[in-house]
Amino acid sequence: MRETLLRANNLSKSYKVKTHPLSVQKKILWAVNGVNLEIRRGELLGLVGESGCGKSTLGRLLLLLEQPDKGEIWWEDICLTTLKPRQLKSWRRFCQPIFQDPFASLNPRQTIKQILEEPLLVHGILKDKRKRERKIVRILREVGLPAKVKDVYPHELSGGQRQRVAIARALILEPMFIVADEPTSALDVSVQAQIVNLLLDIQIQKGITYLFISHNLSLTALIADRIAVMYLGRIIEIMERKHFKSDHHPYTHALWQAIPAFGKKVEATVAGEPPNPLSLPKGCVFHPRCPEKKKICTQEVPMLKEITPGHFVACHLFG
Ligand code: SF4
Repeated sequence: MRETLLRANNLSKSYKVKTHPLSVQKKILWAVNGVNLEIRRGELLGLVGESGCGKSTLGRLLLLLEQPDKGEIWWEDICLTTLKPRQLKSWRRFCQPIFQDPFASLNPRQTIKQILEEPLLVHGILKDKRKRERKIVRILREVGLPAKVKDVYPHELSGGQRQRVAIARALILEPMFIVADEPTSALDVSVQAQIVNLLLDIQIQKGITYLFISHNLSLTALIADRIAVMYLGRIIEIMERKHFKSDHHPYTHALWQAIPAFGKKVEATVAGEPPNPLSLPKGCVFHPRCPEKKKICTQEVPMLKEITPGHFVACHLFG
């Protein structure tokens, strides 16, 4: 088995939100709630779940783009959550994000060369200007773009080209870990496969570890070594590829069932609406939508348990 690169221990993040747009009263919303997760060196771990379940918040926490309220993040034997800002800065070059919307994540006032040069300047890498330029051209070629792209602005590129630039910006610091947050969902269907293939090629060439965040279970199952399923801020199942056809948590089962036939809309949906995250139900938070619920489900929160080696499920149905 691959060794652990990154580990989240009991990670939680909350926000204060208004109970009503006109109200001054605020309640606590737990976007990430007691998450334990290991990410193994060189793997592609898929993180799936419906919109608003906390996937992106968890991705930002793992990159320390946001501070958790509780819990720890370990990078090998270093506890990142206790590092000082200066120590974190040198770690950051090894961990990079790729966001959903390349247009929003690229500065429209900078040329592609300036966008790609900025991380090198921030981290004091390649002080020689000509070496930086050569590196930029090389990285553009690696993501399938011609050298002349360095002189244009983001608005002069197509959506797919802009996402290639966003990938180049993540790669230029030679990271070991990338959080790709819905990297294809803002793109045309015809371009999505190209971007996914590019990410996979890069993983093979450079041995990068990915957290691939997606609402698209069918796509994630095609490319992931393991999948973690999130529901209302919690991880409710973690499985390896060999478990994809096993029995699942009822929510995961519903996600699999909801995958439409080839050629149709690919977003999986589950019957019923998630409960109000500001007033979660007692016991298992999935019980209002669960066709399998029992009495205990309305009273006790199920813990994540290993039901077979490498397959973890948080459900009272699994002994
Ligand atoms: Fe359904 Fe109960 Fe399992 Fe929750 S714990 S998923 S309600 S069977």
